Amino acid sequence: MITIEVVTQKRQEFVDITSRVQAAVGESGVSEGIAYLYCPHTTAGICINENYDPTVAEDVLNKLEELVPVSGAYRHAEGNAAAHIKSCLIGVTQPVLFSSGKLVLGTWQGVFFCEFDGPRRRRVLVRIIPAAQTA
Ligand code: ZN
Repeated sequence: MITIEVVTQKRQEFVDITSRVQAAVGESGVSEGIAYLYCPHTTAGICINENYDPTVAEDVLNKLEELVPVSGAYRHAEGNAAAHIKSCLIGVTQPVLFSSGKLVLGTWQGVFFCEFDGPRRRRVLVRIIPAAQTA
């Protein structure tokens, strides 16, 4: 298993980790398979979306904030209930296919670490699963 460390700078932000996931695949030496990403945090997530135009990630964050505002009538006493909810909505796992040692992503796609309760030092765990056969 490979660990990617992500140091976030803001309370809420999307951090593009595509090149780091690609590096993890390269480090594995496996050419065909799945990089299975797992985020072991309750107030963060992982997603694949457009990383070409940064306003897309900004719009997603703004819409999530509109749906689940930081301040609200939450019962969780720690004060970060909204971050937990956003983590549930985005999810903490993300499989990424790779072929010939390269991530299989669409032209505009990238892999994001999604911070909802930063700034913090975070981890993304990467398990490289070799393809059992060529398909
Ligand atoms: Zn909490």
